[in-house]
Amino acid sequence: MRTLAIDIGGTKFSVAGFEDDRLVVRHSAATDRDAGPEWMCSQIESVFSSWRFKPDRCGIGFGGPVDFPTQAVTLSTHVDGWAGFPLVERIERLTGVRAVMDNDANLGALGEARYGAGIGAESLFYMTLSTGIGGGIIVNGNVYRGADSYAGEIGHLNVEPDGPDCLCGSRGCYERMCCGLWLERDYGKPAMDLLADPGFAEKYVVYLARGLKAALMLLNPGRIVIGGGISKAGDALFVPLRAELGRQMTAWSRARRDVVPAALGDDSVLWGAAALARM
Ligand SMILES: [Zn+2]
Repeated sequence: MRTLAIDIGGTKFSVAGFEDDRLVVRHSAATDRDAGPEWMCSQIESVFSSWRFKPDRCGIGFGGPVDFPTQAVTLSTHVDGWAGFPLVERIERLTGVRAVMDNDANLGALGEARYGAGIGAESLFYMTLSTGIGGGIIVNGNVYRGADSYAGEIGHLNVEPDGPDCLCGSRGCYERMCCGLWLERDYGKPAMDLLADPGFAEKYVVYLARGLKAALMLLNPGRIVIGGGISKAGDALFVPLRAELGRQMTAWSRARRDVVPAALGDDSVLWGAAALARM
């Protein structure tokens, strides 16, 4: 089976072709945030048209809430113009095959569960730590979406009740305290540069661990996988994070704390989109 996988994010977008479980062709480029959905569709069209890849199915990961049963983009939290845009219909017209779409964090979770760092774990919590923060939950090998497709939205958990205002209208949200966009605005440097300073990392992981503690207490997942650009900081992030999580975790809880970086790098969502399309 040949599968076309598309990952539409606020910073970049990627298109890939899979033959069964093999990634055979891939293209990635920066997203023009102000250009909107029509621009995005034309970019995907020009990439797809330049390939001789003829898919049987298509899977799409979108960087914002997706109502899964109706396959509709609910909104994009970082870019205007996407709410209600008929993305699935447009991709089906372009490719001539059936397309299915989900939130990118859900598909990152599915990709890592099936092909990456989550192999062997029946349940998984996946978090993308990047421009923003997204979460995905895998139970018994499949995505848990909740009653209204909003499960796993960990980014707006309040980790600092008197913290600074978040774009969502609340204060001290997980995303507000920990995501790349705000780190750069608050401290004037990219997250990677900031995390090179162990003193900064030590303070940062206090907030980061608060969100993961919530996930552990609520879900007791077999593994926590962290993807996204900031996860590439490696040991500079994961060593202090594991230590801080150990300090914060409720003493009587025997819930495992298996926290690892994503194994599929920038392609977790593409692998998950391909897996979803094949279901
Ligand atoms: Zn918020």
